[in-house]
Amino acid sequence: MNNCPVSKKCGGCQYIEMPYGEQLKKKQRAAEQLLKKYGKVNRIIGMEHPEHYRNKVHAAFAFQKGKGIVSGIYREGTHHVVPVDECLLEDTKADEIIVSVRKLAKSFKLKAYDEDTGYGLLRHVLVRTGHATGQIMVVLVLGSPILPSKKNFINELCKLHPEITTIILNVNNKRTSMVLGEKQQVLYGKGYIEDRLCGRTFRISPKSFYQVNAVQTEKLYHKAIEYAALSGKETAIDAYCGIGTIGLAAAERVKKVIGVELNREAVKDAVVNAKINGIKNVDFYQNDAGRFMVQLAEAGEKIDVVFMDPPRSGSTEEFMEALLRLQPERVVYISCNPETLARDLGYLTARMYRVLEMTPVDMFPFTDDIETVCLLSRHK
Ligand code: SAH
Repeated sequence: MNNCPVSKKCGGCQYIEMPYGEQLKKKQRAAEQLLKKYGKVNRIIGMEHPEHYRNKVHAAFAFQKGKGIVSGIYREGTHHVVPVDECLLEDTKADEIIVSVRKLAKSFKLKAYDEDTGYGLLRHVLVRTGHATGQIMVVLVLGSPILPSKKNFINELCKLHPEITTIILNVNNKRTSMVLGEKQQVLYGKGYIEDRLCGRTFRISPKSFYQVNAVQTEKLYHKAIEYAALSGKETAIDAYCGIGTIGLAAAERVKKVIGVELNREAVKDAVVNAKINGIKNVDFYQNDAGRFMVQLAEAGEKIDVVFMDPPRSGSTEEFMEALLRLQPERVVYISCNPETLARDLGYLTARMYRVLEMTPVDMFPFTDDIETVCLLSRHK
């Protein structure tokens, strides 16, 4: 069943040998092991077609003797590029575009960036696709700001793939494992793509976080909003809100949404997203979520519901302490790491909250990642 020639070197698909039904069972067991002591773990929500779900695809470039410029993934834990043209997880069109970028780079005689010496130009390519809209963004990440024969390069790429809607040049001249650098310039199109989710349109900029699996994201958000049991009267917080997706999907069912997010570009997207969807009862703030919650608590704000969707590292004591001061009736915790979720549930259930139920959602088939949405309610 495993047709992937690089699965061993890549290490990205821990469950590639396992039928999908087995994967779901394994994740269910893992989630239960970590989380059961806090409350009921419902049956994991899986995918009907679990392949090629990743709408964000990244490849690194390198020069290899005998092969010339190659594109692919880093061998697990190294900076050695393993050539890859197709991947079971990645959007198929995105993979085709990456192959075309590499071929064009060859014919334009562009040099691949060398991670060891810092010489060379072409470093990474990132392709992001709007699942529902079909819009496609290509980000070329260069080690220095000048792309020779820029116009021709773009023309050729768009001729091969007329479905590309925007191309961005990003400059990353630092010795870092981060893909994107600070400076960027729009070479073609609007500089962002849009996608549709839960009946709303969302603008996504190159550096903004957006869930990689759109099909499962809708299921995840529906569950989160169902858990929040909104009546239309609530003030809700969307903490770690990214481009505002959860808050904007919930907005018509509450009085007011307050979103907070650290990444400036994402907050800008969130503000635009409220506007393009004609949603007026939402405010977004750029801040550390913990610090922001402390400010709300100090201002004596009345908060009814908190959606929180922190990164893998989970939330912070600062955030949760402020949450305890704000005392929302319900907390909907969305987590991409059951270990930090368990840690944070330990903190909250030792104090004012109890877990009513949890539902894992399989956002990352073939990998061992587990996403969970968890409903907590305040003790009476
Ligand atoms: N809820 C969004 C984003 C979830 S990902 C969605 O579903 O798309 C987690 C987000 O938390 C990212 O956008 C990241 O930029 C943001 N983030 C990370 N650390 C943060 C912090 N300390 N304060 C606020 N936001 C933070």
